[in-house]
Amino acid sequence: MYKVILYYNFHTIEDPEAFCRAHKKACQALNLFGRVYIAAEGINGTLAGTAEQVDAYKQYLWDIPGFAPTEFKEDQTDYVPFVKLIVKTREEIVSLKTRETYDVNKEGGRHLSPEQWKAVLDSDEDIILIDVRNDYETRIGHFEGAIRPERENFYDFPEWLDEAGLDKNKKVLMYCTGGIRCEKFSVLMKKKGFKDVNQLQGGIINYAKTVGDAHYKGKCFVFDDRLTVPIEENQEQPLTNCEITGEPCDTYLNCANPDCNRLFICSVEGAKKYDGCCCEDCMKSPRKRPLDPDNIYMPTRKWYQYFDEKR
Ligand SMILES: [Zn+2]
Repeated sequence: MYKVILYYNFHTIEDPEAFCRAHKKACQALNLFGRVYIAAEGINGTLAGTAEQVDAYKQYLWDIPGFAPTEFKEDQTDYVPFVKLIVKTREEIVSLKTRETYDVNKEGGRHLSPEQWKAVLDSDEDIILIDVRNDYETRIGHFEGAIRPERENFYDFPEWLDEAGLDKNKKVLMYCTGGIRCEKFSVLMKKKGFKDVNQLQGGIINYAKTVGDAHYKGKCFVFDDRLTVPIEENQEQPLTNCEITGEPCDTYLNCANPDCNRLFICSVEGAKKYDGCCCEDCMKSPRKRPLDPDNIYMPTRKWYQYFDEKR
């Protein structure tokens, strides 16, 4: 058995480059796989390894001054769903590309525990429930009744918010996979004048671990080779259909045209029909990857890059 962890912490890092070098060495020494991003505003990562390796990493991070409060979302897997380790610096660990400053620790929304979140959804309180994940993530699973803005990139959300015309006096509840995107989007909503902004502590992953699947339909997109994890117990039908054949399906495929590389919902039949591509145009690409009919859903590693650009 292996553990997969997902975490972030907005704590100022004075010298991100030096922090990154030391962090990479520590991860390599522990033989961990996954991705860690480091910026002046903090750290965001997803890593996998044996329970001992992962637990040693958690302790390593908690021991760094300022990082003791880091919360980890944990899952068990029977394989390590990464093939390499990437530890690198970025401008921001999650970006809305607005050039505003986000003091997430002071200006963010109220964090609701999974129990508090469920209590609000159980009640008949009139709320605005927002899924702040990207379009392709929300399709395979989401909280019932959530507004899903259908945007391809997280940084498209400020524009969506300006156009959505939501009632600023209503109670807002927002959620994402592990909580990090809400940290910034809640600040933005408050800056825009929303009075009662709330966010799900630890995201869908933490909610599922804590209170289960109440009010949630379907699966959850994750940032490793599993691509999805089940959330709704005894789910009978996928929420989505194959984009090529139209049959019920909630399996992702990266378009085999590397210049497109779009993640789309695709059945085995659909993959065979378009040779692993998302559309007929992509099939014409001279750089198209060959489709292995026995391993249609083999991760291409390209999806990391695809997703990270959009998050
Ligand atoms: Zn394509």
